[in-house]
Amino acid sequence: MKVLVAVKRVVDYNVKIRVKADKTGVDLANVKMSMNPFDEIAVEEGLRLREAGVATEVVAMSVGPQAAQETLRTALAMGADRGILVKTDETVEPLGVAKLMKAVAEEEKPDLIIVGKQAIDDDSNQTGQMLAALLGWSQGTFASEVNLDGGTAKVTREVDGGLQTIELKMPAVVTTDLRLNEPRYASLPNIMKAKKKPIDEKTPEDLGVDISPRLKTLKVEEPAKREAGVRVESVAELVDKLKNEAGVI
Ligand code: AMP
Repeated sequence: MKVLVAVKRVVDYNVKIRVKADKTGVDLANVKMSMNPFDEIAVEEGLRLREAGVATEVVAMSVGPQAAQETLRTALAMGADRGILVKTDETVEPLGVAKLMKAVAEEEKPDLIIVGKQAIDDDSNQTGQMLAALLGWSQGTFASEVNLDGGTAKVTREVDGGLQTIELKMPAVVTTDLRLNEPRYASLPNIMKAKKKPIDEKTPEDLGVDISPRLKTLKVEEPAKREAGVRVESVAELVDKLKNEAGVI
């Protein structure tokens, strides 16, 4: 059984985002980039399936510029068997990524595709769902547990107020939630080994996919700054302020 996992190169989650002065987007100059955290969980899940003898191969794919190769190398250092880079310098929207993943899936014929529930840069939460729809496959989103059994996958989903367990017919697309697993760190020997693992490069044109954007970003703004709080001396003063200044009671 083959598992295809998607790994996106995004601004590292520890970086304090700066919005460009002209409000056209986020400033990426000299910013640390890393693998999207939900995708680390996707890679980890693929590796665990392989280690359990359920999967035989874990293939990682990424859509992005040449530098996205580093993200693929990280997936390979974690333990993925090989990588596929769909190279483009354009911004690719979730629909474009889903179409590219569908094209790769048609070549690779995986039984399971694992993607993150969302990329922390665009917070779209769309790619997995679109991919499942384009392929006509089952989907289990926001997975906190995945169990494969022959031709089916049991996926426990994190939904509002609880957990929902569903059974999917394979092949299927699963999107990862935070509690699915705790991803491993790549060890130094594995980082060295990963240098020799193959990364195949393709372009959207090779895959016959039109990635032209459907959306136009009108503006990007920083969140409003929080105003400093005030200390009150007594409950009476607090009640007075809530009544007369905040108008909430
Ligand atoms: P999104 O729908 O943009 O929130 O992304 C959801 C998931 O789709 C991510 O966690 C990745 O697994 C995958 N994905 C989105 N964009 C890319 C990309 N450019 N390259 C690889 N995977 C991607």
